[in-house]
Amino acid sequence: MPPLVLRFAPSPNGYLHLGHALSALINFDMARRTGGRLVLRIEDIDTTRCRPEYEEAIYQDLAWLGIAWEEPVRRQSKHFDDYRAALARLERDGLIYPSFESRAEIAALVAARERQGGWPRDPDGAPLYPGGAAALSAAERKRRMETGEPYALRLDMKAAIARCGPLSWTDTVSNATEVIPADPAAWGDVVLARKDTPTSYHLAVVVDDALQGITHVVRGRDLLHATSVHRLLQALLDLPEPIYHHHRLVLDGDGRKLSKSTNATALRALRQSGETPTDIRRIVGLE
Ligand code: GLU
Repeated sequence: MPPLVLRFAPSPNGYLHLGHALSALINFDMARRTGGRLVLRIEDIDTTRCRPEYEEAIYQDLAWLGIAWEEPVRRQSKHFDDYRAALARLERDGLIYPSFESRAEIAALVAARERQGGWPRDPDGAPLYPGGAAALSAAERKRRMETGEPYALRLDMKAAIARCGPLSWTDTVSNATEVIPADPAAWGDVVLARKDTPTSYHLAVVVDDALQGITHVVRGRDLLHATSVHRLLQALLDLPEPIYHHHRLVLDGDGRKLSKSTNATALRALRQSGETPTDIRRIVGLE
């Protein structure tokens, strides 16, 4: 069997915390145990929130934990052309369209729909896109894009699902291997890029997993539902299908997911207060 290729893919928009440590250590241990490879990807597409000092801290914190990764590290901000190429293909296939509503206009449309009897939300709790931009004519789209108006490029979910048919993925989310049916419709017409942002998380992650030859995507359960969109994009772009493992999360004392904004669980704070890498493994339940 060819070696497993695993990845850890943090965003440098804050310091790594215990949840990241669990994810990075599970990936690292799995690579070591199976004679596989571990690559590191810096997910820094959101240039307004990502900072070089957080990226530097990622390298330091991972090295402190005893994690080794292959060089070169892939930094998404250096590969916008790869995402543009994927978008161009979806556009050629007639699967994306620009929408022009501002966030405030979208919020008003959602509020109106909610008053009329409810409006669905995606698995992360955000309302689905309520606008009608998919119906704009090609000429109208072109005209508005050329005026310099801000826009979001959205996946035409109905058309995308019609093209691919039912999809699923293999996951070990509850430890036994299971086949999970994908439900991308639950996300509505997701944004894949914006006028000034060449890619969304969803698009970049599938393009990069394929380009980096990732065989096993091992990440937290908070991303379980996003996999429905990822499987759909893989199918639309003819990309290979990795095996998934969505692992348990590290929760705070109130049972909530850890956040980058609470310093108490940041690896550097724990290190400064005298914890060792072995302590971290114990705290996240790996020893
Ligand atoms: N960059 C994402 C995060 O930091 C993880 C992406 C993934 O593992 O697919 O939450």
